[in-house]
Amino acid sequence: MTAKLNLLGLPWPALTDFFSELGQPQYRAKQLMEWIYQHNVSDFRQMTNFPLTLRQTLEEKAIIGAGEVVARQEASDGTIKLAIRFCDDRIVECVILHYHHGVTLCLSSQVGCKMGCAFCASGLDGFVANLTAAEIVEQIWHANRALSSQSLRVGHLVYMGMGEPLDNYHNVIDSIRFANNPAAFNIGMRNITLSTSGLVPGIKQLAQENLPLTLSISLHAPVDYLRDQIMPINRRYPLPQLMEAVRDYVKTTRRRVTFEYILLAGFNDQLIHAEKLASLLAGILANVNVIPYNEVPGLPWRAPSDKQVRLFVRLLEDRGINVTVRRELGPEIEAACGQLRRRLQRGE
Ligand code: SF4
Repeated sequence: MTAKLNLLGLPWPALTDFFSELGQPQYRAKQLMEWIYQHNVSDFRQMTNFPLTLRQTLEEKAIIGAGEVVARQEASDGTIKLAIRFCDDRIVECVILHYHHGVTLCLSSQVGCKMGCAFCASGLDGFVANLTAAEIVEQIWHANRALSSQSLRVGHLVYMGMGEPLDNYHNVIDSIRFANNPAAFNIGMRNITLSTSGLVPGIKQLAQENLPLTLSISLHAPVDYLRDQIMPINRRYPLPQLMEAVRDYVKTTRRRVTFEYILLAGFNDQLIHAEKLASLLAGILANVNVIPYNEVPGLPWRAPSDKQVRLFVRLLEDRGINVTVRRELGPEIEAACGQLRRRLQRGE
């Protein structure tokens, strides 16, 4: 018996080929996309504008979605975390966040991660696999289904969940183009943020894609000797190389770059660090997102005090840097990436 074809995330040429093999006109592919992406339907029997015979054939030959939501946690502020199990027992997480500008989905691009950042739950168990482009966009579909009772849809994407997106470059870029397709999720390129720990070759490649998305650099330390301690990638691409790639990126794309800076109490949250950060970013079209650390069981890092966060931010502002403090959404549901997955995989 041949395996059923997963139609969710299937690019347009492959979808039209599939329908022409069934002897169906092209407009059926368009109708199917409407059912999947506008109406979040997974059951061919609900596709009432298809002839009954076609619905039966589709049931025999195809499926919609390869993953299953195996856990859902909801916080009092509306943040929802979904754990999705794909084949081979690979579990990924995505987090639905409600901001004033709309619903944002934090996506995973890999199962596990090779980067080994010292403050991150995703890196603790190492790397398992790259997600396919279809598996990445399936997270958006499950999120839209989770939101449908509130008549909401995902309007913004941040590639900041599990995995290093630029380490799964082609699948991530394909998933971005798919999410942006008006016939699929129709998410504006400017509403998409790709976050990297600092893979310099990937940043250079991305600069050539002509995608007006937002590049976000997970910086977390303003000097090499500190960054080396928490982000092993820094030993391969130290700050001078990284900042040169960022400057070239800004020059090529004319897009403002965001720098993420997790404040770890007593490690990188002192005023001397803010001063060094301001010097590092001088002259770069940049925003800084300061993120007070969300404590992870099993890791030694602590959250900074509110006072320290305020002092850190004020110094950056005094140096003319654009700063926002990322609101902690849903800390009670382990919103830091990788935590729910770790528990599920340990069978807790
Ligand atoms: S912070 Fe991101 S890049 Fe670093 S280990 Fe975690 S998932 Fe990987």
